[in-house]
Amino acid sequence: MQAGNQSKNEFRKDYLLDEWVIIAANRAKRPSDLKEIEQRKEEDKKNYDPQCPFCPGNEAMTPPETYRAGGEKWGLRVFGNKFAAVSPETKAVKEKKDFYENITAFGYHELVVETPDHGQEFYDESPEQITELFKSFQKRTEAMKKKNGVKYVLCIKNYGRECGASLSHTHAQIITFPIIPHRIQHELDSAKEYYKKKKKCIYCEIIKKEIQTERRIFDKKHFAVIAPYASKWPYESLILTKKHYSSLQELNEEELRELGGTVKELFSKYSEIIKRPPFNFVLHQNLSKIPHYHFHIEVYPNVHKVWGGVEKGASIVLNEVPPEMAAGYLSGRTKDNI
Ligand SMILES: [Zn+2]
Ligand SMILES: [Zn+2]
Ligand SMILES: [Zn+2]
Repeated sequence: MQAGNQSKNEFRKDYLLDEWVIIAANRAKRPSDLKEIEQRKEEDKKNYDPQCPFCPGNEAMTPPETYRAGGEKWGLRVFGNKFAAVSPETKAVKEKKDFYENITAFGYHELVVETPDHGQEFYDESPEQITELFKSFQKRTEAMKKKNGVKYVLCIKNYGRECGASLSHTHAQIITFPIIPHRIQHELDSAKEYYKKKKKCIYCEIIKKEIQTERRIFDKKHFAVIAPYASKWPYESLILTKKHYSSLQELNEEELRELGGTVKELFSKYSEIIKRPPFNFVLHQNLSKIPHYHFHIEVYPNVHKVWGGVEKGASIVLNEVPPEMAAGYLSGRTKDNI
């Protein structure tokens, strides 16, 4: 018997976190029941926009470059964010008085332009381009993690206006924090607790189990892709390295190439079944190697969900797509024949 009854409604707890969701199987949403995905505007499809600071020839319009792939004709560029949320100009200074606590907005916030082509969407990128994106994450994380006052480096990709991508030229972000974000700390603490009791990494155990269940989407030599047991987002997925790595920094060339291919394959499946949904993906990692924490990528498509009072007020998320059903469609085991 495998855990999770996909035909009944149930409360499910996250693998590690003290967070619960209600899997509402009685309201199950097939891909064809999902909201209409907003189509891209015609003007966003052109290959070059003279006004766009991310287009080739306009490099002087961006803050100084910190990394590039390629030479004069670049394939990818990284530079400071003009509208950064945090800045290295200041120092991380903490203040605490009574119940007021703050830290100056110290940090680094950079943008990664993944393609010189203004009209190319993430969904049209090649596996090699996606590999380059991860290499840039590796390079910049390495540089940023050494800086004084940096406690965490978060690499993110937002796609689509609804998911926070404000400019049409596709790009990703790297942002540092003077604190370890609560969500990561919560994962670290729970993983440590599990390791203390079982002397095993919980994520390594999750992979072994989950690729045998209906929540497996696909797996390759170095990676496994699953729909998490207590998914908060409809069609959410999780990419894990099969080897125990704590961060992206530990992946070698071959693994990075396969990661590009894995992400490409996963997003081709999203594209096929839900027509290029807006999404966010984030890298969760520990910046130094430890036995209990395991590098993974969380993928949150935005296909239906609007958080209501239950979510906002009780932090219990109602998900209308059981992960077993999501994995069924994403793996091709189930077909949506309407
Ligand atoms: Zn552009
Ligand atoms: Zn592990
Ligand atoms: Zn995580």
